[in-house]
Parts: sequence; C-alpha cells; structure tokens
Amino acid sequence: MATDHLQQPIISADEALQRLIEGNNRFLQGSARFPTVCKETLADLARGQQPYATILGCSDSRVPPELIFDADFGELFIIRVAGNVISPEVMGSMQYAGAHLHTPLFVVLGHEGCGAVKAAVDSKLDAIEHRSRIQILVNNILPGLPEFDAQAAPQEHLARAIEANVRCLLSRLRCEVGDVRQPIRARAAAHDWRAVFQSPAWRAAQGTF
Ligand SMILES: [Zn+2]
Repeated sequence: MATDHLQQPIISADEALQRLIEGNNRFLQGSARFPTVCKETLADLARGQQPYATILGCSDSRVPPELIFDADFGELFIIRVAGNVISPEVMGSMQYAGAHLHTPLFVVLGHEGCGAVKAAVDSKLDAIEHRSRIQILVNNILPGLPEFDAQAAPQEHLARAIEANVRCLLSRLRCEVGDVRQPIRARAAAHDWRAVFQSPAWRAAQGTF
C-alpha cells in the first residue's frame, strides 16, 4: 500500500458522489474519457495517492468501477470480491482507505445479475450446496437475504436479493466502521445489464477509524 498522502480530503463526500454520478453519465452517454495517463501524472501519483472515493464492488467483469465511473488513475480506491461481501481483510482495506487515505466517500456497488448473490439465492431456495470455498462466500451473503414470495419470478427474487445484500452490507459497515449517511440509489444502464448501487458516505472523523 502507498504511504499516507494528505491528511484531509480535498473534496467533500457530496462532491465525490457528484463526481461519480457525472462520470457514470459520461459512460452511459458514450462520452467517457478513457484517459491515457501522462508521465507527469504517473510521477505525481508515485509520490502519493488521494483517491476521492472508496468502492467495494463485485469481481464481475462487467462492473469495472474505473470504467463505469469514468475515473482516472489515482481517483478511486477499489476493493473487488465476488458478491461485494465483507471479510476481515476487506474491512482492513476499507479502514485503511478511511484512516490513511481519507477518502470522503464510500460506496458499496452491487449489480444486476450478480452470480454470487444468485448462488446464495439458489442455496436458500433450493438447498443447493456449492463447492467448499464458494459455499463459504455464499454463507456470507445468506444472512442478508430477504424472505421470498413463492409466487414471484426467479428474476424478481434475484433483484430483491441483490438489493438486500447491499443494504445488509451497508448496515454492517455502519455498525463496524462508522457513521453512514442516507444511502442514495442510482441505476445505470449499460448494454443489457444494469449497475445498481447505493452510495453511503462516512467521514473518517465521525467513524471508528
Ligand atoms: Zn456479482
């Protein structure tokens, strides 16, 4: 990990969120910058980093945060794990981002059609047992799943489960890491899938870092 950079965020959580939304709009409109990085920028980043947001997202190849938020090198601190689940190591990374990088905004990024959440839904509804390590991951998601309406379509189950998983994670983060402000929800269309995210923000100063 890089060494500490500045001690305070250069922008507020609201400004950071606005930046993500504007980047996502550029992405959706096909006007993303997809920047190339000049030597001067790389040299500057080698001296330290001050990303404006920390993002916990899924490993799914269709939701790369830098691309869907049209963000540049050094702008986002990203943790990706299938199902965007929390583990001690993930929490350690997030705490590092809060305590040392002072990112003003934290985002849990769930997405439509998440395979990890689907595996958990299958496990809950059909008692499907997955391979050992996958089952450990699934077991991390299961407690946050809602009760399902037996009449509902499978896609509806999955959509509800994905949102519930994000909400559950936000709740756990609120308890374990710090104060989370009112979550904001947005949907982004790209090809025929959608990113669904809820963006909480908490400030290091208010939390338990
Ligand atoms: Zn996923």
